[in-house]
Amino acid sequence: MSVERVGVFGGTFDPPHLGHLILAEEIRERFGLVEMYFMPCNQPPHKDSNNLTEAKHRFAMVVAATLHNPGFVVSSIEANRKGKSFSIDTVRQLQEHMGDEVQIVFVTGIDAFINIETWKDHREFLDLCHIVVVSRPGHGFEEVAKMPTWISDRVVDLREGDLLPQEQLEQCPDGEWHVFLSDAVHIDISSTEIRERVAARLSVRYKVPDEVDRYIRANGLYRSAGKPRETAS
Ligand code: ATP
Ligand code: MG
Repeated sequence: MSVERVGVFGGTFDPPHLGHLILAEEIRERFGLVEMYFMPCNQPPHKDSNNLTEAKHRFAMVVAATLHNPGFVVSSIEANRKGKSFSIDTVRQLQEHMGDEVQIVFVTGIDAFINIETWKDHREFLDLCHIVVVSRPGHGFEEVAKMPTWISDRVVDLREGDLLPQEQLEQCPDGEWHVFLSDAVHIDISSTEIRERVAARLSVRYKVPDEVDRYIRANGLYRSAGKPRETAS
């Protein structure tokens, strides 16, 4: 029986930008994922929610950003679930819904993954699905080697070896889950930069899709610079 694989790409998407879209498409293609599920969260567990844009706006912007790609799907699972959005709850819910014939590949940037030990039930989470960790300017993969061995032992560094990402996935025995490191993308854009540029009345053209640019302006988002939102966890 051949399994179908779908990607799950979680984030705050405040707002979605071209870095998100380019990485999602690249990973979808390289890993042979039939669809990439964008998962805008309700409340991010590791950010201060005070300056967060309402979930309805973030969700609408992700819909606008992904509309023209049939390989992209936007899921409302997290946006509709009250409270903090924990990835493990999302993956479990999706697995129940999709059944055994669909394998979930969870996609995250390296800056988020290095904090995995602070994620809810992270040990169980790593036993549920494959994870693809994507490089990001300013964050090296060296951090992963410093993680506890039970995590670093699962790592498959795609920069080494000859197999294509999809072949690597296909070779994994049933029930054996890995953390794949991919340096497929190097796009130096962040939502923080977009928010700051809008607050400073600077253009965000070519950094976000036109639809998102229009949505931001039509709804007057990010016009006043908020406090820094990352909190220590
Ligand atoms: P913020 O600056 O508000 O934290 P962000 O650009 O990091 O925004 P998030 O919504 O926090 O966007 O990120 C969602 C996911 O996408 C995270 O796993 C993050 O690491 C990843 N990501 C975002 N931008 C990039 C990028 N340019 N390159 C690689 N990964 C990225
Ligand atoms: Mg971030």
